[in-house]
Amino acid sequence: MGYRAGDHVPLNTLSFVPEGDTIHRAAAALRTALVGRPTLRFDAPRLFGPHPAHLRIVERVESHGKHLEVVWDDGLILHTHMRMTGSWHLYRSGERWRKPSELMRVAIEVPEWVAVCFSAPVVETYREFDRRRHPGFGHLGPDLCTASEAALADCARRVFHYDDPDQTIAEVLLDQRVACGVGNVYRSEVLWACELNPFAAVGDLQPVDCVQVINAATRMLRANLKHSTRVTLPDVPGGLAVYGRNGQRCARCGDTVQVRRLGEHNRLLYWCPGCQVRHAPPVDDTPPSMMREMDPHPAAAKYLAELPWRREGRDPLAG
Ligand SMILES: [Zn+2]
Repeated sequence: MGYRAGDHVPLNTLSFVPEGDTIHRAAAALRTALVGRPTLRFDAPRLFGPHPAHLRIVERVESHGKHLEVVWDDGLILHTHMRMTGSWHLYRSGERWRKPSELMRVAIEVPEWVAVCFSAPVVETYREFDRRRHPGFGHLGPDLCTASEAALADCARRVFHYDDPDQTIAEVLLDQRVACGVGNVYRSEVLWACELNPFAAVGDLQPVDCVQVINAATRMLRANLKHSTRVTLPDVPGGLAVYGRNGQRCARCGDTVQVRRLGEHNRLLYWCPGCQVRHAPPVDDTPPSMMREMDPHPAAAKYLAELPWRREGRDPLAG
């Protein structure tokens, strides 16, 4: 891929929380511009760790979920994590930046290009041999954008064997120890696609549910790798099924899309209460008899109908 002079590559969109696919595109653009080139300037006002030496060659640019790494040929690794606010931009040398320089956390200049990281909360460098001791990287789950079939199966197992079975599936999807790449937009979209209730306790999910969630997330992330706008449901205006659509009609069942803040970071969760009913947690004040009437699953209905006392009730002469 090539960039014309004067192009700035829109690596991030302010209105979106950066997600795995955005960081992947950023990494791809940075790779094209930086890899194989000598470092002319490296600026990182709040860096924790050593600076790369002048003229050191950039060897690799990697992304894992919201983590982006630049690796120099002497084994020095720059690790940035975007969290909610960070973004990487790529500029031609001398081109005006689109964000204030006070927000610059890293600037890497090579011949013709300057890669600038703005507002990332985590900026640190360390040597390659320290990698396994790095607290952030040691237990990260596979990156859904690149994971092999076997690694995806491992992600599904991480969901199934999640250490806190009472945690909601909506929160588990954002846990980078399970898998990297799913951000706040995709978690709502993935759960809608799977018709899963976002408040389902992860311990209630069956293995097939876990596989389905991971597959849906992988499909969405990979389908959006090459686009700058995120689309999970092309037929809906805006291309998203529920995210940002609170108060609007669900495209599947016509019910009204809801929004709620959830989890330790109070992030917005969008869902449809009409069709995202699978594994919905029981409502505490519902009498058990009501819950039986409400259970829509045919297998459950058959099971209940065939309970001995039901059979006797239906046909008192039997047996
Ligand atoms: Zn619905």
